Amino acid sequence: MSRVLDFSDHRRSLGANRYVYAVVSRRARGLSIGVNLNPDKVCNFDCPYCQVDRTTPGGPSRVDVVALRGELDALLDPVAAGTLWAEAPFDTTAPQLRRVADIAFSGDGERTTPPEFPEAARVAREARDAHGLVFPLRLITNATMFDRPRVRQTLALFDELWCKLDAGSEAYFRLVDGTRFPFDRVLANLLGVARERPIVIQAMFLAWQGQGPGADEITAWLDRLRAIRDQGGTIDRVQVYTVARRPADPRATALDAEALHAIAARARGEGFGAEAFV
Ligand code: SF4
Repeated sequence: MSRVLDFSDHRRSLGANRYVYAVVSRRARGLSIGVNLNPDKVCNFDCPYCQVDRTTPGGPSRVDVVALRGELDALLDPVAAGTLWAEAPFDTTAPQLRRVADIAFSGDGERTTPPEFPEAARVAREARDAHGLVFPLRLITNATMFDRPRVRQTLALFDELWCKLDAGSEAYFRLVDGTRFPFDRVLANLLGVARERPIVIQAMFLAWQGQGPGADEITAWLDRLRAIRDQGGTIDRVQVYTVARRPADPRATALDAEALHAIAARARGEGFGAEAFV
């Protein structure tokens, strides 16, 4: 069956590419050119809601930045020439979504961890600029590595930072992100960067064994957002979403739309621009 690009297709693949893929993204509102620096599927989190299929082996860890540039150029050439939408599989994209929304570093693991991350970011920016294109370069990240100088310096190459914050309490953070990474360090990382430039918060809320996050957890999460703002950080907007595809752990299921909208409404009540994606 030939491929149809729509919201339901989130395969991180495009032809024989190793690193560059394309998805129609609800949150990006158009075609998102994805860069996957983690074909090895290694991540420093183990979120039960993760959609990455780790039942099959990943590829090599080393990122071939020259190959990445080649894959980007091959996709950006028809974008710049205005011929992309005539090519398969892009010709299946709904007319109202026929816009390239971004180049997004969003892969099968935490994308700031590979040693090649700085070089890959530089190459992606160069490729976009060389084609005379102006859509943003976005980094989608769990913010665990922001205190590493090589990562911190590289953030300047991105137009937008979309940062995960799925919890308000340490215990819930450990549950939904499957990690023993210090929660305080994530919060300090978010604050440090948000003091320098606006960040976008991405929050995944799910039902765990049939139970959504309690009202106390949402209050604690809002407290964390407020704390960033009160200490001089800027949160540009908040995106609330839930499990949309088969998760790593079947105990993680989607939160209903009403609960998701209620969380976004509470965030708006605190003065944040917040939207629920259901
Ligand atoms: S941070 Fe992202 S890639 Fe890593 S386990 Fe969580 S959802 Fe999966």
